[in-house]
Amino acid sequence: MRVPEKSILVLPGDGIGPEIARATSEVVKASAEVFGLDLSLHSMNIGFTALADHGTTLPQSVIDAAQEADGVILGPVSHNAYPPLAEGGVNPSGILRTALDLFANIRPARSRPGVPTPIANPIDLIIVRENLEGFYADRNMHLGPGEFMPTPDTALAIRRVTVTASRRIAEQAFSIAAQRPGQRVAAIHKANVMRVSDGLFLREVRRVAENYPEIAYEEILVDAAAALLVRDPSRFDVIVTTNMFGDILSDLASELSGGLGLAASLNAGPTHAAAQAQHGSAPDLAGKDSANPVSLIGSAAMLLDHLGFNDAASAIETACEAALADPASRTADLGGALGTSAFAKLIADRIKEGHS
Ligand code: ATP
Repeated sequence: MRVPEKSILVLPGDGIGPEIARATSEVVKASAEVFGLDLSLHSMNIGFTALADHGTTLPQSVIDAAQEADGVILGPVSHNAYPPLAEGGVNPSGILRTALDLFANIRPARSRPGVPTPIANPIDLIIVRENLEGFYADRNMHLGPGEFMPTPDTALAIRRVTVTASRRIAEQAFSIAAQRPGQRVAAIHKANVMRVSDGLFLREVRRVAENYPEIAYEEILVDAAAALLVRDPSRFDVIVTTNMFGDILSDLASELSGGLGLAASLNAGPTHAAAQAQHGSAPDLAGKDSANPVSLIGSAAMLLDHLGFNDAASAIETACEAALADPASRTADLGGALGTSAFAKLIADRIKEGHS
């Protein structure tokens, strides 16, 4: 069935962002050409470039364009290095997640054939992380930040956990598990000490679990889950969890799968979606053409799949997997010699060859 025309807004970001966003755009364009996708890509600046040009790291025109677009490819940003809010520094990632209602951060971690990992067992799991509340002070309040300082020697942080957010992230996790027969869902929590907030989260996940009797469901404390992930990640399929636990566990899982350079993710909501690598802007690698773009290319493949361009998404995945399997076609983080742009060209060429 033909998917109607879709538009993707590319926001390159800071650090390695422009390099991996360029690589990703090249691959997406190649797949659009090969599969005849009715897809348009256009780019706008955020981060330090936007600050220099517009006095803010996230101009309102970019938020408006993201709302107009069907999907966003969001490069990493160096928000910790931005000036204060009064001087134009805002975290584009946090604001776009709220503005576009991207409540679910879907973070797969999967061993790839031939790619060395620090563990003996293979890993193939998906972390479904609540994205808009929890302890994240830049997005968990309607007005003002969720952190404050009543006296100079006391700092407080508010953790927000709501029925609506818990229920919809649970729904997302179970519907992902339902598409993969034999999968089970694990809710990761700390309800033994956060009895009220994680208690509410678990209560709502259990309610959703009751609607999926065919899917096995378990609850695991976050500390135990971290240990189990290292000992035997193969026991996990779909993990559903609150914002901060999901953020931390997904970095662990991606490192176990071969490294941050492979870590793709999709931020999804009812009307919008944004492809975003799990890692930050890696300023140490910026401008060196040495970053691994698989993280953002894989994220873009998730976005294409979400938009209904399933064949293009799987062609990108297959081309990346084949390249990663050969030590000669890997980037430096995986011990290879290919630069970011050469890797992107290789993937784009493979997609074209696969259909020539
Ligand atoms: P930020 O300040 O934006 O969070 P960071 O460098 O502190 O950036 P990350 O970008 O998440 O944090 O990455 C940590 C390290 O992992 C980087 O310094 C880099 O060496 C490595 N890394 C991250 N992403 C990639 C990538 N795509 N390719 C290769 N190495 C990467």
